[in-house]
Amino acid sequence: LEQQLRQAERLDSLGQLAGGIAHDFNNILAVISGYADVLAEELENSPCQPDVQAIVQAAARGSGLTRQLLIFSRLEPSRPETLDLNTIATDMQRLLGRTLGEDIELTTELAADLPPITMDRSKLEQVLMNAVMNARAAMPSGGRLTIATSASPADGFVSLAITDTGCGMTPEVAARAFEPFFTTKGRGQGTGLGLATAYGVVTDVGGTITLDSEPDRGTTVLVRLPAGGTAPAQPAPVAPADAAAGA
Ligand code: ADP
Repeated sequence: LEQQLRQAERLDSLGQLAGGIAHDFNNILAVISGYADVLAEELENSPCQPDVQAIVQAAARGSGLTRQLLIFSRLEPSRPETLDLNTIATDMQRLLGRTLGEDIELTTELAADLPPITMDRSKLEQVLMNAVMNARAAMPSGGRLTIATSASPADGFVSLAITDTGCGMTPEVAARAFEPFFTTKGRGQGTGLGLATAYGVVTDVGGTITLDSEPDRGTTVLVRLPAGGTAPAQPAPVAPADAAAGA
């Protein structure tokens, strides 16, 4: 327990440091983005247009990264709302349709009668996006990606499983996968913050996130979230027994 506490404290200060930098850096990026957008408009028919577009795109990637850092550091406030996991999964499928590439077969398996959850939509989307991008990276020569929802009325949880048929993880990698800044991807490829961020987002609302992975078989990331949610300001519309089980 003492070791867990020390680990938690270490992660806390890491998060605050990263979040502080991300916050300031985000402001700088906003200035770069803003002026690059203005330039892109003014230079619309100029031969420099591709250069300006490169700045616009790099600034957008930078914003994505600082956003990840802000969520990881928990500095980003949560705006809980009532969400349907099936809708989130369907929206994600539509969004990913074009970006995943033709060699990835994407399917969704949606449970009927799924109770709602309460949490910050964009944080949940970030969790799902991180898992999907990891799945994509694990299947460089193609494969199957499945997003499945299910309900577990007995304990008051709903689940979201992201399964790929990719390279999988060795037990050593799986054991460290949730560590902040742990990555097996090359420099500039991975930040090592995807699963650490997901862990923070999911556990903050009383959920769990676990991995089931085997080399050469693939990986399932299982996210379990309390039905009805745990947002204190907004009492969840569920029976008291369910609320107690989900807390
Ligand atoms: P990043 O993706 O930036 O490396 P993550 O925290 O998302 O950071 O993941 C940490 C590591 O866990 C990855 O570098 C990879 O080795 C492993 N990993 C995560 N998801 C998968 C997956 N679906 N298949 C195989 N390995 C994975």
